[in-house]
Amino acid sequence: MLKSRNDLSSPIQYVKGVGPQRARLLARIGIETVKDALFYLPYRYEDRSSIKKIARLSPEEIQTVQGKIIKTDVITPTPKRPRLKIFEAVITDGSGALKAKWFNQVYLKNVFKTGQQVVLYGTVKVNYWGSGFEIVNPEYEILDEEDNAQAADDREQKTEIGIHTGRIVPVYRLTEGLSQKNLRGIMYAVVGNSTPAVSDFIPQEIIKEYGLPGIQESLRNIHFPSSSSSLNDLNGGTSPYHRRLSFDEIFTLQIGLAAIKKREVLEKGIPFSPGGKLVNSLLAKLPFKLTPAQERVFSEIINDMRSPAPMNRLIQGDVGCGKTITALMSMLTAVECGYQSALMAPTEILAEQHYINIHRLVEDLGLKIRLLTGSKKNKEAGIIASGEADIVIGTHALIQEGVSFEKLGLIVIDEQHRFGVMQRAALKKKGINPDTLIMTATPIPRTLALTLYGDLDYSVIDELPPNRNPIITKLFPEKNKNRIYALLEAEIKKGRQAYVVYPLIEESEKIDLKSAITGAEALQKTFPDFKIGLIHGRMKPAEREDIMRKFKEGDIHILVSTTVIEVGVDVPNAAVMVIIHAERFGLAQLHQLRGRVGRGSGQSYCILLSYGGSDDARKRLNVMTETTDGFRIAEEDLNIRGHGEFFGTRQSGMPDLKVANLLRDVKILEIARKEAFALIERDATLSGYPELRKAMGDFWGERLEMFKTA
Ligand code: ADP
Ligand code: MG
Repeated sequence: MLKSRNDLSSPIQYVKGVGPQRARLLARIGIETVKDALFYLPYRYEDRSSIKKIARLSPEEIQTVQGKIIKTDVITPTPKRPRLKIFEAVITDGSGALKAKWFNQVYLKNVFKTGQQVVLYGTVKVNYWGSGFEIVNPEYEILDEEDNAQAADDREQKTEIGIHTGRIVPVYRLTEGLSQKNLRGIMYAVVGNSTPAVSDFIPQEIIKEYGLPGIQESLRNIHFPSSSSSLNDLNGGTSPYHRRLSFDEIFTLQIGLAAIKKREVLEKGIPFSPGGKLVNSLLAKLPFKLTPAQERVFSEIINDMRSPAPMNRLIQGDVGCGKTITALMSMLTAVECGYQSALMAPTEILAEQHYINIHRLVEDLGLKIRLLTGSKKNKEAGIIASGEADIVIGTHALIQEGVSFEKLGLIVIDEQHRFGVMQRAALKKKGINPDTLIMTATPIPRTLALTLYGDLDYSVIDELPPNRNPIITKLFPEKNKNRIYALLEAEIKKGRQAYVVYPLIEESEKIDLKSAITGAEALQKTFPDFKIGLIHGRMKPAEREDIMRKFKEGDIHILVSTTVIEVGVDVPNAAVMVIIHAERFGLAQLHQLRGRVGRGSGQSYCILLSYGGSDDARKRLNVMTETTDGFRIAEEDLNIRGHGEFFGTRQSGMPDLKVANLLRDVKILEIARKEAFALIERDATLSGYPELRKAMGDFWGERLEMFKTA
């Protein structure tokens, strides 16, 4: 039964030309309803709108012609290949005649009839005899009577005459069994019939203020653009209509973020009133002064901590800028007020590192600090619960059941991008609205930060401690390995240390890559007098802790490792970072690894050893040699990888963006964010905007229960 044509939720199967079999194919590309189809956008466009006169065709170009069929034939061009059949049709348009050829598509003899008006779109080639042109395997469209009338009009100009030709045509992503023509035909029907049912959920005042095109007009133009549209804008996703849909998406996203933030602000947190004694004692013990950026960010944190609303602040700062001390100062502030603080790190190594770095400082202040990682969980958990520990450092073991705090006042989450929102929330639940500080060293462009962390306040430590020399980065092909040995030897003789990082722990038969284990053996042979250490994720935590401590204390000269040392590890005396198979690593990863050196005074080096790799890999490595600026690297990373992949918006808990591109649509983002936050300020539950409320439910799903419609 055909449902009402205006019902967007009606199954796609009932659209003219679909039926059960095609409906199954469409389901594979996510189209189950009419609405799904309307929002399944073309991924590129082809300009088939300008129709060429046959007499004016040029060879080796893709062109569109229109004419009347005067002859059709099926031929076998060579007796040597009796199975090769070619369907030929000759068309004329008054200026000349053109032969079209389709290989092995004999069925076309039942499709084309002499006298028909057709439009052909394909590559024009010089024919075998060199005496004229032919068009090979063109896409085609047979025009109906009405179109014929128009065709009789003999001008050569931009006209829209068909669905598949004679216009700017949309090209959709397909699935096997579904042709571009099938899908385009279906889309034409859906867009024609169902756009009037699409309602506009963006508040009218915003539409007016920014002169946004209507949603129906936008959908029509995105699927079947008028010939006056700019092909570049269409293909770049920046036509006014694309921008309208991007706006809708980003606005919906930002409304959600504004609502989360609003809800958090309304909650009752802890109004700390610190005197600053512990922090001052800590500062007195440090061998350095805080940078102005650290001071500024810490004062922002203290303001938040004093306020009765729970703090939700993101601290962003490039590797080595000194986030750990800033976090420690905040933790001490909570402790001074009688609360516990917890720091959660994404890996055991990193948690262990934080512990090693700060436990002496903390204990000198007369406080109790504990490390809680997966392997140590059981015996430590009780101590935390009893409130005996002032500061707890751990991995996600912290959020597991059975771990409870007596009075958790502040949580710090390090390298946030490794955790999902859910884990952040789970740690918060261990206290009663504790203040939350989130630290990330992954420099992300502002636009992305406003989205991924859009519900958070935001501080940047935009300054490195003084006396840091820029790291010298060199890219070596495999054959120059000996130069690396020379550098390692020279630096170690100077009393410095080095990392050598491998992509794999041990050699495997499946992948032809150098591994850490064999690498460590080889290095030991080359340098019998140096102490070589090996560290990787499969070792026991106690062993790892031991190796890290030895490296930190200078008992190991060269530490061979996998990427377990990627984040956070801090050994200021390490001056050389060698990355083997650098082509295998992502940009963010390379930048993090490089950030392990250059942490003390003196010159540091990052050596990228490349074994070849793709174009993208070469681009990444070049970026590394050109800049040490984390922001530029993040931006380049985004350019190379595309924003969707950046660090998995899915794991971040954000809904997918289908049209918008946060790098490209910065302007839109800024407007949408401003308007969204203002709207939530006026009407926190969107009670006056039922359409928007419903759109929020569709877009955010389970993630934002407050907008769920009954
Ligand atoms: P990250 O921001 O990457 O986590 P860390 O907190 O590990 O950086 O700090 C990097 C190194 O810089 C550490 O050895 C730390 O002791 C040192 N450091 C931090 N702040 C300063 C400062 N103001 N002056 C000098 N060194 C500092
Ligand atoms: Mg850190």
